[in-house]
Amino acid sequence: MKQIVKSANITADDMDLINKYTRREMKPDEIFVFTVILCDNEIDRDGESFTPESLKKLSELFLGKTGIFDHNPKIKNQTARIFKTCVEATGETTSFGKPKLVLKAKAYMARSERFKDLILEIDAGIIKEVSVGCRVLKKICSICGAEYDGCCGHEIGETYHNKICYAMLTEPIDAYEWSFVAVPAQVGAGIVKGFANNSQLEKQAQIGRRHMQKLRAQVIKLSFLNEFMVNNDAFAKMVSKMNIDELELFKDELSKKINSKTLKPQLFNSNEIIKTNNQFVI
Ligand SMILES: [Zn+2]
Repeated sequence: MKQIVKSANITADDMDLINKYTRREMKPDEIFVFTVILCDNEIDRDGESFTPESLKKLSELFLGKTGIFDHNPKIKNQTARIFKTCVEATGETTSFGKPKLVLKAKAYMARSERFKDLILEIDAGIIKEVSVGCRVLKKICSICGAEYDGCCGHEIGETYHNKICYAMLTEPIDAYEWSFVAVPAQVGAGIVKGFANNSQLEKQAQIGRRHMQKLRAQVIKLSFLNEFMVNNDAFAKMVSKMNIDELELFKDELSKKINSKTLKPQLFNSNEIIKTNNQFVI
């Protein structure tokens, strides 16, 4: 596993920045400085990825934010503070073929007796990770650029024309306290993302998903009634990839068609309700 918390040298420039946050002027030997990678633009386990612009914005939001070591209940006060951030290219490529970027931060803590063990653990590489939290305003579909709310028809993790679908996290508005995660107790490691109007967005997504499901079923049924469908499974697969506009268009066209021809009663199941005014209740 990659080590993302590393002890670092202190430069004169660092001391100037640190002393902006301290109550009195500190000297380099009173301070312990380390670097930490807060997040990157790789697709995470939720199928989401920060855009380069989001990382840039987060680099501003994380400045001055404190980190805590929550595995040790004795240390209640803030333990470290971020005083410098930057977005850096690693030279690697992301899983979706873009240059990999990391949001790197430099943080300091006092070399006091209280933090002696923590500093030792960072120095020894025992503490390798941090858990961070932030809030963003929007998720954007990487395939069509629409706001990702389940309505555009693209599914996270699916591939469309050789491109993987993921949600791009945009417009960060808040960065929260971060915490050290001791290895191997790293269950909580990673990024905790919040969304503005979370419940509202989720509700919209649910409505969208239900609507899409209903539309897909209607299109399949209408094609069946039109004897349009050649291969059942292949058609269902095709329908599952259609976006909302394509589905609506298909539904309208097939509805028009069916209206203009004589319905064949033997195609219907007894539990299907078909109204003559061209409204199909499925
Ligand atoms: Zn989409």
